[in-house]
Amino acid sequence: MIKILDSKNKNFDKTLDILLSKRKDKVQLSSVSVIKIIKDVKKNGDKAILKYEKRFNKNSVIAPSIKQINRTIQSLDPKVKKAIDLAYDRIYKFHSLQKFKNISYTDKLKNKLEYKYVPIESVAIYVPGSTASYPSSVLMNAVPAIVAGVKRLVMVNPGQKGKQNPAVLYAAKKCKIKEIYSIGGPSAIAAVAYGTKKIKKVDKIVGPGNSYVAAAKKEVFGDVGIEGMIAGPSEVTIVCDKFSNPEWIASDLIGQAEHDNLAQCILISKDKSIIKKVNDQIIHQLKELPRATIAKNSLFNNGILIHMQSDQKIINTVNKIAPEHLEFNTKNCKKVVGKIKNAGSICLGKYAVMAMTDYNVGSNHVLPTNSSARYSSGVSVNEFYKRISYINLSKKGIETLGPSVITLANYEGLAGHAKSVEKRIRRK
Ligand code: NAD
Repeated sequence: MIKILDSKNKNFDKTLDILLSKRKDKVQLSSVSVIKIIKDVKKNGDKAILKYEKRFNKNSVIAPSIKQINRTIQSLDPKVKKAIDLAYDRIYKFHSLQKFKNISYTDKLKNKLEYKYVPIESVAIYVPGSTASYPSSVLMNAVPAIVAGVKRLVMVNPGQKGKQNPAVLYAAKKCKIKEIYSIGGPSAIAAVAYGTKKIKKVDKIVGPGNSYVAAAKKEVFGDVGIEGMIAGPSEVTIVCDKFSNPEWIASDLIGQAEHDNLAQCILISKDKSIIKKVNDQIIHQLKELPRATIAKNSLFNNGILIHMQSDQKIINTVNKIAPEHLEFNTKNCKKVVGKIKNAGSICLGKYAVMAMTDYNVGSNHVLPTNSSARYSSGVSVNEFYKRISYINLSKKGIETLGPSVITLANYEGLAGHAKSVEKRIRRK
């Protein structure tokens, strides 16, 4: 059964903290085996990757040939191709609007300062895939990279039982990704972070994955860039009221729960009766779901239905959860939504459902999980740029500002700094 909490209860805060921290514990736990795998790949390269591919994915081909890829794509239903094309166009359009303007500023002393957005040279996209296939994740990561102008895009994706997914490959082809590796998990992360004989290392890795993938990305960070967030097992928090349709709400929660045993789905309402109705609907709808085992594990171990007394309590709790996806399925949500500061993406109103945003609305679905929405955002074009400052000083500029720099440099005990400025402003 899904846990039901009432914010009136004395132990509410403590119980909620325990349930929320379950997500963090799992990533920490996963990192023990992950470190071993990363070390192994660093030392033994492709041989180690193949070992883990055989063990976890029943796969023995790391780099499928173009011929193999095209043959697999041929088997794809044209209707799915069309759906991918539509999603590509909408994601491209919305992400094109996120492009930044370079800054160029000249001060009164004729010093010129510039701040330029420079695309990252090479990026690997991790597309998860052992329990489900995510062509949508290919688009969500690759399209913003294309918009930013990344030159080298690499895709790593574990097949299912040794077979690559045709839709994932089609989406990769649509994004003109030339390097495709059929590998997954921590060994794939290590491969693109450090390079092997077959796989050249990249500058940054993006893309969601299970707790092993999330732990591996944390581990290699520094040697390679990763997103400034944890895109781990999925989460949704839904706020609803007596006007909401319990059947729809239940299906939204199940839709997120079917991702992963560790997915966390939370419902919050001031109305006790809707909580009961949603709970009944969940039990009913789970009977018809193909991935019911995963959804049940997620809902019964990590799911929470919360009865709250006030809007203020809802605001505080949502900000504490900092959910990846937030749905406001209430009649009047404007006042409350304005006070939500921590969430990856927020769906407003009865038709805006997380499942739509996962595919073709145009916004990104790779979003911060594990409360990292407190300090970070979902994947955007910004993820694929570095920003470089350009400084061009005038003679008048250094002569005017230099003496103050010399004072500060000497104060910090950095005489070398002071001297290099002094030499330039010394009058002959
Ligand atoms: P995955 O590709 O993330 O992980 C599969 C890999 O995990 C395997 O190839 C294997 O290498 C590794 N693995 C499995 N067991 C292991 C073990 N015991 N030790 C070391 N490595 C092990 O695919 P998945 O498992 O299907 O998970 C997909 C995840 O991606 C889900 O958690 C889902 O919620 C998440 N997801 C998130 C988003 C997002 O935007 N946040 C989008 C799509 C999917």
